[in-house]
Amino acid sequence: MLNLCSDFSGDLADTAGLPLNPLILLALLLLLLAVFFFWRSHFQRVQSGVPDGRIIYSDPQLWGKVEKPFFDADAMLTGKPDYLVKQGDCFIPVEVKSSFSRVEPYGSHVFQLLAYCLLVDRSTGMRPPYGILKYRNRTFAIDYTPAQEEALLDLLTDIRADEGSSYCDRSHNDPARCSRCGFRSICDQKL
Ligand code: SF4
Repeated sequence: MLNLCSDFSGDLADTAGLPLNPLILLALLLLLLAVFFFWRSHFQRVQSGVPDGRIIYSDPQLWGKVEKPFFDADAMLTGKPDYLVKQGDCFIPVEVKSSFSRVEPYGSHVFQLLAYCLLVDRSTGMRPPYGILKYRNRTFAIDYTPAQEEALLDLLTDIRADEGSSYCDRSHNDPARCSRCGFRSICDQKL
């Protein structure tokens, strides 16, 4: 009868004494690093409350330019996405960024796109199920769920509350963003 346990333990004992191939070690190290960076990025995204984005591919030929800004009096919000894509009865807003993205889209860009989703929903009466965020190196689909809409409305309420105050705390922990900021010379919270 074949004894799998004893056969495997014999194989392991054979390989245990051999030095590990440096290439295998390097591959293992790279794999561990990849897992670490993926976990860290996912953890930061969950902490920031920024919705998930999935990478999609889309034909730019299908995109139509938006001529006039949308406006919603209830949310006191105006703006226009770069493009709209027709999908069934819905219009999908598309925001195009000239920058490269990290593994995850930037939080401020996600909320900008969600604001366009809200404007398109309220202007056309058809709720877009998602919006598209296109960077130079990646394109993300950002779902527009009721929870995302609520997060956007909460953020707008916070912004309005801060508008009247003379002092606002830094809203991020991103040194790269501070390094590019035009207020850096006078800001007492720069990183
Ligand atoms: S320098 Fe100040 S204002 Fe500019 S991004 Fe950093 S914290 Fe914000």
